[in-house]
Amino acid sequence: MTQKQRPVCPYCKMEMKKWKVPVTSTWENDFFYVCFNENCPYFIEGWQYMWETQKTCASYRCRLDPTSGRYMPLPAWSKDALKENIMD
Ligand SMILES: [Zn+2]
Repeated sequence: MTQKQRPVCPYCKMEMKKWKVPVTSTWENDFFYVCFNENCPYFIEGWQYMWETQKTCASYRCRLDPTSGRYMPLPAWSKDALKENIMD
């Protein structure tokens, strides 16, 4: 039995989830890896940062582009936002 290797979030070390890119988006990827851990420091600090800098009640989750291998923020406007696109 071989298990598929999943990347881990560099901020909280939790396994990232496969997240389907919405058809309405302009991204070329079919999917990204996204950290959906509610206790991820990246996600938690994002709320405070967005409020202080943008006066916006939103945050972002850690996203990994499997093509480039780069980590980028994925905007999240609530804790449950984006979850309908989790592929696992
Ligand atoms: Zn994380």
